[in-house]
Amino acid sequence: MISTKPVDSVSPTLVKQYSYCPVIVWLKAWFLLEEPVTDSMRIGKESVKPPGGKGQVIVRAGCGTAILDEVVRERDGSLTMVEKKAYKSYNYSRYVEQAVASYIIAKEVLPGVRRLRIEVEGVGRTLELNWDLVKEVEEITKKTQEIVSKEANPPRPWNSTKCRSCWYGKFCPHQ
Ligand code: SF4
Repeated sequence: MISTKPVDSVSPTLVKQYSYCPVIVWLKAWFLLEEPVTDSMRIGKESVKPPGGKGQVIVRAGCGTAILDEVVRERDGSLTMVEKKAYKSYNYSRYVEQAVASYIIAKEVLPGVRRLRIEVEGVGRTLELNWDLVKEVEEITKKTQEIVSKEANPPRPWNSTKCRSCWYGKFCPHQ
């Protein structure tokens, strides 16, 4: 479905997609284009749903909106944000970017988060937050925000081999 109503805030998913291709962010934000959900994507989403009695948390803060899969209070009183993924990715750094972007959005309203836990197919890795990592993802988040707020379409990615298998290609101004 195509609409001209623009998205007006960033999400961790858009930040993750920026690193793949900024044009996809623009198409999603300005035309609300979404790749159709496949059966395996649907099954994947179901498999990471929280157990009964627990729920994901939606956070809306200054620069965007994030859905947090789980927030755990540790013995020392600090918080760990948990990001759950149903499938392994060929590019794990995109999961890290997405989790850090959730932290950047949530930190205003959820102080005390010290680490992130990324669970892929049930196997978790814990990541201590550090200034360099947060700064790097803040830069990407700002660039994502710029695309969401500007009507002009961004340049195509440096690696144009991505275009060959891109679902958004049929709507892409560079094709
Ligand atoms: S076709 Fe290429 S430039 Fe266009 S949205 Fe897809 S990856 Fe980006």
